[in-house]
Amino acid sequence: MHYYPPPCLWIVIPCYNEESVLPLTAPLFLSEIESLASSGIISSDSRICLVDDGSTDCTWRIISGLVESSSQFVGVALSRNYGHQNALLCGLMEAKSNCDIAISIDCDGQDDIHAIRKMIALFEEGSEIVYGVRSARTTDTWFKRMSAEMFYRAMNKLGANVIFNHADYRLLSKKALNELSKFDERNLFLRGLIPLIGLPSSTVDYERTERIAGKSHYPLKKMLHLAADGITSLSTKPIHFISIAGILFGCIGILGLIWTFVTFILGNSVTGWTSTLSAIFMLGGLQLLSLGTIGEYVGKLYLESKKRPRYIVKERKGELGNE
Ligand code: UDP
Ligand code: MG
Repeated sequence: MHYYPPPCLWIVIPCYNEESVLPLTAPLFLSEIESLASSGIISSDSRICLVDDGSTDCTWRIISGLVESSSQFVGVALSRNYGHQNALLCGLMEAKSNCDIAISIDCDGQDDIHAIRKMIALFEEGSEIVYGVRSARTTDTWFKRMSAEMFYRAMNKLGANVIFNHADYRLLSKKALNELSKFDERNLFLRGLIPLIGLPSSTVDYERTERIAGKSHYPLKKMLHLAADGITSLSTKPIHFISIAGILFGCIGILGLIWTFVTFILGNSVTGWTSTLSAIFMLGGLQLLSLGTIGEYVGKLYLESKKRPRYIVKERKGELGNE
């Protein structure tokens, strides 16, 4: 055991338009934190930090009610919708100076809260970061399972090292949180950033179940955006691939030139309408793709250079515990 007295835990939960699910899952989080505290695994001033990511429904009203009903809840409202990653970062940064360990989890009940206990045990054994890894995706549709798997494989091929089947359910120690706060980028992809911290880490398997209520905010379009963001914010490999493709097509071009010259000398020049057109389309497409990829990086540079705040807190509610 490297922690005595028991560590203060903050469970960080981003919530966006979750009025249908929050009243069902909040009591589950509360009873888990109470049972952990009563068995002496965590300190009694542990908290559940609910971050309202600019919801347009009653989510903030529900959070305010929870904060009033129990001192274990803390509420943070962002000024508008900043997206899952930014809302999560906000919660983690709120936790940083108040907790010994923080665990981030979604508010929809998909992540098994019983893994929290195992995560804390691994922290006690010396892990600064514990990743929650989905052991089964039996409740997801075939398409979601396939696309998610392709997502992880493509990410790793393109140079963004992410833990397979790990989303944003993880434990971070105070030390890891302090190191995370030094990453100053605006294009946030926490799944890719956290492994870069490089402190001792371990994994906990859990079964991911279906959303208790409400619907996912990550349809295919948003998943693809997240993948593109992850890749372009963590790696420059795609630009490297473009250079390789450029060299490859350059060589093919030279060969083609030699070939036309030879056929010309041999006197059997053909009309070549189809081959000319297909070459134009193919090269045009490749050039547009290359320009687009480079444009993505330039756009990211533009956003990074502005140094805009990653989120703005509108309101805070609740007692922090150790003040
Ligand atoms: N979320 C958020 N801001 C957003 C979208 C989602 O804070 O703009 C939260 C959402 O309330 C949930 C978590 O992020 O707690 C994960 O979202 P969701 O369950 O929709 O994603 P999925 O589990 O389907 O990937
Ligand atoms: Mg979910």
